[in-house]
Amino acid sequence: MTELPARRLMLVHAHPDDESINNGATMARYAAEGAHVTLVTCTLGERGEVIPDELRHLSGAALGGHRLGELRDAMRALGVTDFRLLGGAGRYCDSGMMGLPDNEDPGCFWQADVDQAAATLAEVILEVRPQVLVTYDENGGYGHPDHIQTHRVAMRAVELAAASGWDIPKVYWNRVPRSVVEESFARLDGDLAGLPFDKAGAVDDVPGVVDDERITTVIDGTAYASAKAAAMRAHATQIAVAEPYFVLSNELAQPLFTTEYYELVRGERPGVRESDLFAGVGAGGAS
Ligand SMILES: [Zn+2]
Repeated sequence: MTELPARRLMLVHAHPDDESINNGATMARYAAEGAHVTLVTCTLGERGEVIPDELRHLSGAALGGHRLGELRDAMRALGVTDFRLLGGAGRYCDSGMMGLPDNEDPGCFWQADVDQAAATLAEVILEVRPQVLVTYDENGGYGHPDHIQTHRVAMRAVELAAASGWDIPKVYWNRVPRSVVEESFARLDGDLAGLPFDKAGAVDDVPGVVDDERITTVIDGTAYASAKAAAMRAHATQIAVAEPYFVLSNELAQPLFTTEYYELVRGERPGVRESDLFAGVGAGGAS
């Protein structure tokens, strides 16, 4: 095996675009600092709603193929070269929103066998040996079946990899502190008239919001704000950006956070807030 960089970060996401929205600044920062950044995306988001009129004809596999191209462009913007689809592109398809008949599609990620998908992810973990893994909380941040399943598969894969010789020292869930979200929406209400968006969203539109005291780690990605915005713009079927705000297909404006927040759920909880996901991890990590 070729020698791995000292610091290795893995992120596990449901659809192309989730990584840029949740972790774009973090990924750009660590890639720029020479860490090895690995993104594993579980589906191609074939059932996503398309924003631009001129791309609205895309659906199913054609949309998935297009979104893979968007993901490539986003990774170029963030400086990340190692990105993979779980089990290969098209292995698991998008499950659609919760409660739709799409959830019953036998090929969709929601129907995947968790242990089997986790074994596939564990192989990647054993290859890359990350000291840090980032994914969603048990509700997938906001209840989308693919996000919930991503949580289950990622957390199970962490256990499987630990049993096979690589115990990831630190696992984080994506979070946003409630106070920050509330302040940002208050600012958005004042800014809305000057934006290309008609309506503002609300706190509930932001995934992973928790009380401030649950936040263990704050990554200041201000220096990577333009890289994050460029990565989000690359996902043009899903996101429209007007910094420092953006909309998804529901057309409700929400803040674009360039400081990103995390809750440590595996590893010793720090006494004070960390400013580095690798804090306390030795160069070699666990062995
Ligand atoms: Zn998603």
